[in-house]
Amino acid sequence: MLKISKVKNAYKEIEDILGTDFVSDKDFMKAAYSRNVDPAFPDRWADIIVKPETTEEVSEIVKIANKYKIHMVPRGGGADLVGGSVSEGGILLDLTRMNQIHEINVDDYYCIVGCGITWGSMLSELQKKGMTTGILGPGSGFAATIGGGLSNATVGFSSTKYGLVPDICLGVEVVLPNPEGTIIRTGAASNQYASPFCRYGVSPDFTGLFMGDVGIMGIKTKAFLRLFPDPPFKARRYYMLLKDDYSNVFKIGHKLRKEVGDGLNDLMVWPSILFQLVYAQTINKPSKRPKVTGPVFSVTLEATDQRILDVYLEKTEEIMMKDNVTRPFEWQEIDLDMVLSKDWKFTLKEEFNFFQKYISTAPPKSSCTTCHKVAISRLNESVQKGVQFNITNQKEFPPKNPPYPVFASFLMFLPNGNCVIVGGLGGDNTDENRETTMNIWHKKIRHQVRYGAAHYWLGESISQSIVEAGAYTPEFMQFFKDMKKAVDPNFLLSPNKFHMYSYDHDYTEHLVKD
Ligand SMILES: Cc1cc2nc3c(=O)[nH]c(=O)nc-3n(C[C@H](O)[C@H](O)[C@H](O)COP(=O)(O)OP(=O)(O)OC[C@H]3O[C@@H](n4cnc5c(N)ncnc54)[C@H](O)[C@@H]3O)c2cc1C
Repeated sequence: MLKISKVKNAYKEIEDILGTDFVSDKDFMKAAYSRNVDPAFPDRWADIIVKPETTEEVSEIVKIANKYKIHMVPRGGGADLVGGSVSEGGILLDLTRMNQIHEINVDDYYCIVGCGITWGSMLSELQKKGMTTGILGPGSGFAATIGGGLSNATVGFSSTKYGLVPDICLGVEVVLPNPEGTIIRTGAASNQYASPFCRYGVSPDFTGLFMGDVGIMGIKTKAFLRLFPDPPFKARRYYMLLKDDYSNVFKIGHKLRKEVGDGLNDLMVWPSILFQLVYAQTINKPSKRPKVTGPVFSVTLEATDQRILDVYLEKTEEIMMKDNVTRPFEWQEIDLDMVLSKDWKFTLKEEFNFFQKYISTAPPKSSCTTCHKVAISRLNESVQKGVQFNITNQKEFPPKNPPYPVFASFLMFLPNGNCVIVGGLGGDNTDENRETTMNIWHKKIRHQVRYGAAHYWLGESISQSIVEAGAYTPEFMQFFKDMKKAVDPNFLLSPNKFHMYSYDHDYTEHLVKD
């Protein structure tokens, strides 16, 4: 009873601030906001859904939430894969009306955008001015927002050269979840006389507190992002390994990074099974069955001048063809409707349709994702461990959902010796199999944590599994809680993540020995 009147009162006060159009407690709205993109979490309904447009409105909502002690979860595009942007009860803050571009500064190479803008909208505007943020955001970039990218420490297209989304962040404007709804700016912008042109030099790096935080430390309202002139000359080439041997992947990847350097915009390795699956579904098949012998490197190069690009192309060819371990590959060997690499042109559409096109080839259901980063020199060993885990634990997977190891060998290279192993397992979101799916998902993440992996989106399922695996020392966990308490004294923002349910809760209850 108390809860109902608390929620009702909060609703009325929020309505006084936002007007009737941007707050709802209707069932169809709760249902529409009840999911992210995963086959394991049940539907979860928030009590109130709000759509603020300004930072001040967010601050007022936070004050009301504190007054009635109602928890809150921020949400951008809702394209999360690990249950991060849904809320059981409480207030769900949809930030997609905060989608303005406030400034594009081509002289000082930064922009200021609302955190609810999508990657697609922002990049389309930047491209008109010959600029880019370098990293192009996630594969979900037509729907996903900058706020989601910063909170999930997103890896995406062009991350090989430009790093993760937080790496291009110069600072943020954030509403702290405290009773005052305090608004702060970080980076150079924490000097109230400065523009947000750089990240360091005014105070400790408080920007980092809100990067990859999966929305537990504050509600990001504006982002200050680095800009780069967009190199106009780009090319892509593909090479197939003659053998399915991942030790060569490490060697070649390492050499390309070292020798092509700044020209290397994006480097991915796609598993051979992907091509077999795509071929099976292709309509316009070539007359000859493709000879798929191993994984394929996709190498994207960029330069400010065609002559420089030609040098990068030559260097790439030299590295790839040395020692006879790869051969040039064309998508037309699989599908006659695909363009030849010499005719390839960069488009946002291709990048943002990539995962929808390839990740859903098998299994036909979306997957419980397990994407994580490993040190590049441990790549081969980590891929093998992942495959072995699936074999050893086969019986624990939901029935009729074999642990397809397809994407356990889909790789993206990052700067400084990082490599992403994109992966997932087939889940089954039915009442009878949800628990089995969730259990094996957590177990697989714990396994990865224990071989030294670092994930990126953490949401609920991954952040909890990291705690379960015993990754954090007691000292670290205490520090973490103390930092959160400093910004969120009533413990209202994004509960459940990292198995945090209150400041007194004993996380050791959740440790799991596998
Ligand atoms: C087809 C597909 C492809 C994908 N490809 C990639 C990929 O290549 N790389 C990758 O990293 N991920 C990828 N993802 C996962 C996900 O879409 C991204 O991580 C994306 O950045 C999430 O952005 P979003 O706006 O949808 O965030 P949401 O799903 O809305 O939120 C993500 C998390 O951030 C928090 N949050 C959101 N906005 C704010 C804010 N303003 N302030 C504070 N907290 C906030 C939420 O509480 C939640 O925990 C993909 C997902 C799909 C469905």
